[in-house]
Amino acid sequence: SLTDKLQNVFKNLRGKGRLTEEDVKTALKEVKMALLEADVNFRVVKQFVKSVEARAIGADVMNGLNPGQMVIKIVNEEMTALMGSETTEIAMQPGKSTTVIMMCGLQGAGKTTTAAKLAGKFKLKGKKPLLVACDIYRPAAIEQLEINAKKQNVDAFSMGTKNKPLDIAKAGMEHAQKNGNNVVIIDTAGRLHIDEEMMQELQEIKENITVHQTLLVVDAMTGQDAVNVAKEFDEKVGVDGVILSKMDGDTRGGAALSIKAVTGKPILYVGMGEKLSDLEQFYPDRMAGRILGMGDVLSLIDKAQANMNIDADKEKEMASRMKKGKFDFEDYLESMKQMRNMGGLSSILSMMPGIGGKSAEIESMVDEKQLAHMEAIVLSMTPAERRNPKLLNPSRKHRIARGAGVDISIVNRFIKQFEQSQKMMKQLPGMMGGFGGKKGKF
Ligand code: GDP
Ligand code: MG
Repeated sequence: SLTDKLQNVFKNLRGKGRLTEEDVKTALKEVKMALLEADVNFRVVKQFVKSVEARAIGADVMNGLNPGQMVIKIVNEEMTALMGSETTEIAMQPGKSTTVIMMCGLQGAGKTTTAAKLAGKFKLKGKKPLLVACDIYRPAAIEQLEINAKKQNVDAFSMGTKNKPLDIAKAGMEHAQKNGNNVVIIDTAGRLHIDEEMMQELQEIKENITVHQTLLVVDAMTGQDAVNVAKEFDEKVGVDGVILSKMDGDTRGGAALSIKAVTGKPILYVGMGEKLSDLEQFYPDRMAGRILGMGDVLSLIDKAQANMNIDADKEKEMASRMKKGKFDFEDYLESMKQMRNMGGLSSILSMMPGIGGKSAEIESMVDEKQLAHMEAIVLSMTPAERRNPKLLNPSRKHRIARGAGVDISIVNRFIKQFEQSQKMMKQLPGMMGGFGGKKGKF
């Protein structure tokens, strides 16, 4: 996969202490190949590699402390920029005004599904959405929309297949006004390929109804085709934003990386499955992280927060203790517990930059046995000793070593490391809860 290939390139870079211009160029050549194979648009790749090269080749980077790491950082930043840097929201009409959204895209791209997914999101935000069924070519499409609307518990409007899409859309607008719907989502018919009739239908709706947002749904699995489709739709109908469906499938990443650069239109959401809850906001930085195999550090933080079973006050207290260098062995035990709740250290590490998914590597980094030793040592201390490590004189340390079943040298080393990380924490304000405590140790 793209991620595997990029990881290989980066591994070589990291392995080198200093980098020559040649090293960087070779690495970027490999990056280029990997991107092309992932179906990223050729011109986009060329421009991308040029930008990275311009920043990476130079004394600043190559004579720096960690040149390999710097190059990776530049690749990450340029990739994020390629996808638009900022998260773009669907632009809503101000105040109580109704926002009208028109879905478009080829047949099977995921318009109807995505329309219902979006309706659910609007509902959660306190809006009252209406789904309007304008696909008159596939009778099943109307039923599909209605079933999905029911699942989402939102309103739907349909008139069968006998009317023109524009007339249905107009009637839908009237219905919304009477019914108090403040978001109207018009679901339209796709075709298997770009087709004049389809474009005309969409143009006609836009010419006669105030559509505030035209959202294009493209199938991420189709790679560069998705990008070409986006270009065509934007030229013919005008697109405000793109939704990339089926990102849960075996996509090569090409569409995500090229769409913004080729069409200038932002990706707003990504479809991550068939379920109506499987729609995620698009974060260029997170996507770049995922593609580079840098793990999804941000989603890790989300996960940590969701699973944190200590309440916010306790977390705050712990952070403040850490800052004061008062993090003691009781806190250590607590943070071990939290780590378990998050799925253990290996699972956390597997999401960290540069490690992601490499189980053998993780195994070698996390010596679970050593961790078990440490926990045994802490558990062999008395509560008073945990709270006040200064009490730990040689005879107490011997008792603890016996209790934990380890050699005294291990106890000594562990306590020393602990004191060092306490000092470090004092110098590193603003770290997050127990997790920060762990970080200080490794
Ligand atoms: P439309 O023709 O553009 O309206 O496409 P549909 O909404 O009917 O979707 C076509 C098929 O793709 C359906 O089977 C959907 O369940 C499926 N689908 C849509 N979005 C996603 C997605 O994000 N992931 C996956 N795996 N399937 C999706
Ligand atoms: Mg449909």
